[in-house]
Amino acid sequence: KREGGNRFEYYSPESSIAWTRDRLELEKELRTAILNDELQVFFQPIINARTHQITRMEALVRWPHPTRGFLSPSEFIPLAENVGLIEQLGELVLRMSCLSAYRLLQQGYPVNVAVNVNPRQLMNKNFLQTILKTLQDTQLPAGSLILEITESSIVNNIERVSIILKTLKQLNILIALDDFGTGYSSLTLLRELPIDILKIDKSFVRTLDQNQSDLTIVQAIIGLGNNMGLMVVAEGVETAEQNQILLQHQCYHQQGYYFSRPVPYNALVELIHTKNSS
Ligand code: C2E
Ligand code: CA
Ligand code: CA
Ligand code: CA
Repeated sequence: KREGGNRFEYYSPESSIAWTRDRLELEKELRTAILNDELQVFFQPIINARTHQITRMEALVRWPHPTRGFLSPSEFIPLAENVGLIEQLGELVLRMSCLSAYRLLQQGYPVNVAVNVNPRQLMNKNFLQTILKTLQDTQLPAGSLILEITESSIVNNIERVSIILKTLKQLNILIALDDFGTGYSSLTLLRELPIDILKIDKSFVRTLDQNQSDLTIVQAIIGLGNNMGLMVVAEGVETAEQNQILLQHQCYHQQGYYFSRPVPYNALVELIHTKNSS
């Protein structure tokens, strides 16, 4: 034990204990936040870049922490994954997203909602059940829901995922492959799975206007998607130049700070009123 203690000292025990305490604290707080319905969902519009109308929106979770301010997903999703809270978190986000999309639909704005699905959620045996129940409870038509999945959830489970996605597709739910181009087996997945939407990762979009090879990659992804009859969405569009280059290369669906940051539901409704009514 003492030796262990000595070895630990090398890694600075105080900071390590402080870190552990901090993490335990955060875990407790996250549990409470989920229980008390304190997580919020922001929405970022996905634009038809030709008409500038908002056709879809992506749901992005936020945690208004009592002392640490607004926490972004990268600060608590990994924790939620590790401590078994991700399924609950995912269900909350799904429910809030479907409710919001249904409210928009009621107001005459059929804006589809895209919800991020964590690999663990997708692999959970109750996943399909949860989706069905949520659609039923919120009355959102299945065709208004998009599920965004990433390659990392799939590579080791392609057969199982394939069955799940085919079931979702039969229900009329749309599937988007998120962060496309960043993984190792994107093309295999495209061949094997019933994908409807490709989301070009923002790392390619960022330097589109400066880097010839990124432009070439983006062009190839757009061509691939269009030729396969998929919808292609570029994410992380920040500048007019990026917007224009993407349009020139037939990428008509775009998302990014150039159009709008992720915003609370009410702000999104305002945006939709101005953009979609004219
Ligand atoms: P993602 O699915 O790739 O989501 C896009 C991220 O890019 C969001 O970050 C969004 O705010 C950010 N973004 C949008 N436009 C721009 C832009 O023009 N420039 C730049 N630099 N960034 C932009 P966010 O909200 O921090 O989310 C990060 C990641 O956390 C997401 O990446 C997603 O993987 C995960 N995430 C977010 N919400 C949820 C959720 O409800 N459930 C799960 N399982 N994961 C979520
Ligand atoms: Ca996403
Ligand atoms: Ca993405
Ligand atoms: Ca990402």
